[in-house]
Amino acid sequence: MAGDNPTVDRFSAAPERYPWHEALWSALSRQFDQLPHALLLQGRPGLGKHDFAVQLAQAFLCERPRNAVACGQCHACHLFRVGTHPDLSGIGLADEARSITVDQIRALGDFLSLRPHTAKRKVVIISPAEAMNLNAANSLLKQLEEPPSGCMLLLVTSHPARLPATIRSRCARLLFRQPAAAVGLAWLRARPNSGGNPAWLLNYAGGSPLLAESLESQDFLQLRAQLLQDLAALTQSREHPVACATRWKGMGTARVLGWLYGFANDLIKLGQGAPVSAMMNKEAVSFEIVIKNKYKISELYDFIDAILEKYRQLNSPIDELLMLEDVLIRWVRLSRLQ
Ligand SMILES: [Zn+2]
Repeated sequence: MAGDNPTVDRFSAAPERYPWHEALWSALSRQFDQLPHALLLQGRPGLGKHDFAVQLAQAFLCERPRNAVACGQCHACHLFRVGTHPDLSGIGLADEARSITVDQIRALGDFLSLRPHTAKRKVVIISPAEAMNLNAANSLLKQLEEPPSGCMLLLVTSHPARLPATIRSRCARLLFRQPAAAVGLAWLRARPNSGGNPAWLLNYAGGSPLLAESLESQDFLQLRAQLLQDLAALTQSREHPVACATRWKGMGTARVLGWLYGFANDLIKLGQGAPVSAMMNKEAVSFEIVIKNKYKISELYDFIDAILEKYRQLNSPIDELLMLEDVLIRWVRLSRLQ
């Protein structure tokens, strides 16, 4: 792995083996030596796909793997752990970067064109794969079409639809699903800093245990209360969208848009007659203010479309402040359409 890669830790730290991956591991171990040269690891966020890819990469490079599991003892495993295995390349987002660039993928071509140093094959992890810009994806396509022999590419994505179909069609798909609620909950409760309300967070995270855990660690409940307060203030003209957008940007644009998307869906369900008790955000006081309005369902769908459009643009060099201002101005318009 290139020593100047700032993402090196993400591709070498020994990750945890999650209980909900066991079925995938046993399926993989049965065909470990006949796997196709490119795998697309896809599924919702928070299921541990990246960690799975790192473990699989180590197993490919290990001198004595058993049942698709690296031994953890050999020289290759040692090199892997310290992030210096010469036959592994990890491609991800550099600090602050919004996309994986064509230069990163071109460097991959050089890496793959050389014979393996110590292992039988060369292994590449691209994660998150959907962060590749169009030029990068086109450059990767050439590698996928004419793969150097003995190479293994692992593409990790939570948003496969953002990858060109030509890339997807050249990879064998490894689908990650949410575990049964009991499995996710047992894991979450056993975490060292488990607290709050794990069942609620797991539900809110759509059943993805790692996402539920990160919501907890990010003080998600406080974040949500702040966002709802702001929406209520905007609705009542006590706040200006521009000032609000600045605050929201500070909380992380992707997180905020993700929450707003879920919230707008809540409002649609309410509009369609679902009881308030079924809403995810019902505990917050500001929720009462916001739901006093009767929103038009068609306008809410337009609002959701706008949020999704912004979300897609997060990987492009767009001004996040302007993006959030636009979303909040739409909210003000929507909440006063009566
Ligand atoms: Zn080993």
